[in-house]
Formats: sequence, structure tokens, C-alpha cells
Amino acid sequence: MVAATTAVAVATSAGAFVDKFPLTGAYTTYAVHADGTPDYVTDSAASGTGWATGVKTVNGRISETPGTDKAVPTLLEPAKKNGYATGNVTTAELTDATPAVLDSHVTDRSCQGPADMAKCPTDTLAAGGPGSIAEQSVNHKVDVLLGGGKQRFDQKVTDGRYKGLTVTEQAQKLGYQVVTDKAGCVTSDPNRPAATPSLADSATKAIQLLEAKQKAKHSTQGFFLQIEGASIDKQDHAADPCGQIGETAAFDRAVKVARAYAAKHPDTLVVTTADHGHTSQIVPLEATPPGLSSTLVTNEGQQLKVNYSTNTPGQSQEHTGTQVRIAAQAYRVLGVTNQTDLSTTIREALRLR
Ligand SMILES: [Zn+2]
Repeated sequence: MVAATTAVAVATSAGAFVDKFPLTGAYTTYAVHADGTPDYVTDSAASGTGWATGVKTVNGRISETPGTDKAVPTLLEPAKKNGYATGNVTTAELTDATPAVLDSHVTDRSCQGPADMAKCPTDTLAAGGPGSIAEQSVNHKVDVLLGGGKQRFDQKVTDGRYKGLTVTEQAQKLGYQVVTDKAGCVTSDPNRPAATPSLADSATKAIQLLEAKQKAKHSTQGFFLQIEGASIDKQDHAADPCGQIGETAAFDRAVKVARAYAAKHPDTLVVTTADHGHTSQIVPLEATPPGLSSTLVTNEGQQLKVNYSTNTPGQSQEHTGTQVRIAAQAYRVLGVTNQTDLSTTIREALRLR
């Protein structure tokens, strides 16, 4: 079986399992302007498009070209055509930029549900377009979609074959089983009181479902799965170091799941990376930098000062244009590469034609 499990985090992290990959490199994440010139600080839409399609685009755009706004095939599309089961797991909304880049093509990342199409006039069903991100994700028949964003899928489809139904009802017509909490999805984990599954729970369930799908089809192909720890980024925007570290640890536990699977299935490629740099910096205790600083006590009993100063305090802190880490058991990640090279790495691993 050939399977690729791709994990994307939105901040570099130093957890135990993400540090155990044999090969590590750095990559550049810049976006482009409409004319193709570099835009040095990317958002998650342009950066996800970079590795999902191999083409750089403008900030805010989902798997479409920068100037001409034309759809570009994503990794998930040929993976499906080549017989792989496919999955998309996130702690954000399923219609947020990073999951969206694999299963949709829209002018602007805000076009998440049928009622959210203001910035995507040519993508609406009425205009002959493919519809919102929510509609496209179910139309792509991604085998496993696990994440948030129920309210996007509760919106009513405004045109075409499914007019008047909610996107959730559309999904059910297309054969999806819809679950709305952990009880419907994952059965065993007494340590988490909330009805929300952890990222590691979702990763475990997604892998089980994808394997079962291929087994039922007697397929020898594996699966392609993206797992996103989305809230590392969101906590970094909020200048919350404890939230950021907790989300990173949760992501690391999902990486543990993927690595354990790969250990038993050696033809699995696991890639872990970030989609862009972020604001947080470890600074000397005696420093008095501008912006917001928090001093934490680490589990070694030492003080650690974290500073956020890429925007005015009180404003959302900003991404940065730094290179980020990529790690895998693939020599192609070594050295300094470009984010778009990851697209080639996965295409080659899956032998996509
Ligand atoms: Zn962000």
C-alpha cells in the first residue's frame, strides 16, 4: 500500500514527535501579487494553495491562479482519480483556508458557505461557478471530512440541483454520514470531558475510516490525508502563549498517531510542516521589547519570556515571512526548498499521473 499522511501545523513547534523525523529542512512560504511578484508574508489561503497545487497565488485565494483566477488542480483531485481514499481533518472550520485548498477553488477564502459569496461573484452556482467552499468540499466526495464549521453547512444552497437544501442535506444526498459530536465519531477517550474530539482522536478515526474504505473496495491503493492543527495560529494571533503551546502539544499528539501508523505501514509518507511563520519569539528575560510579553514557568522550573510584537497590542498579531520547518522521511525536504516543492514531493510519493 502506498499512503501519504500529511500533517500541517501553522507554527513551528518543538514537541517530541514532530522532532523525531529523520530528515528536516526549511522552506520559504511567500505569496505573490497578481502580477507574479513576491508578497513576502503569506496567509493560509495562498500558502496552502502553494503546496496543494504547486502554484503560488495571491493572499486570500483558494487554489486558483494569482492574476487570472483560474482553478488549478489540487493534490486531492488526482489522488482521488488514482484510486486513493482521501481525508481532510482540522481543528478549524472545514471551510477554513487550509482544508479548503485541497477540495475547492474560489476567488476568496471568505466564500465558505452559500450565504458567504459576496467576494466570489463568478464562483456562485447562479453564475455557473462551482459554489461555496462547503458545497465544493462535499461535491468532491472527500471520503472523510472531520472538523468544525457546522453553521456553514447549515446554510441553504441557493441554486442548482440542491437548491433549498442545506449543504449538510446535500452531503447526505451524496452519501455522507453526518456526525456532530465525539460520541458519533470516536468512542473511547475518558480523559476529554468535552463533546469535541481531540485532533489525535480525529486523526485516529480518519485513518481507520480511510483504511476501511479501501478494504471494502479491495483496493491496493492507500490514502491521502491532511491533518491540520489550526489553532496554534489562532492562539498566536491572540498573543496567548499558553494556548499556543497547548495547541502545539495537541498537534504533536496527532503527529504521534501518524508516525505510529507509518511505523506499522512503512510505505507511508508522513510530512509535518507549518504553512507560515508567526509572531511569537522567545526573548531574554531582561529584555523589554515593544508589544506584548508573557513570562512562563517551564516544566524545568525555569522562566521563559515570550514576546509578540508584529502588531499594536490589542490588534491581531501578524504572520511573518520567515522560512519554516518541514520534516519527513523524504530526502526531498532537505536543505532550503520552496513551499510549492512539497506538492511535487507528495505527487511523486503517490505516483500521481
Ligand atoms: Zn493566521
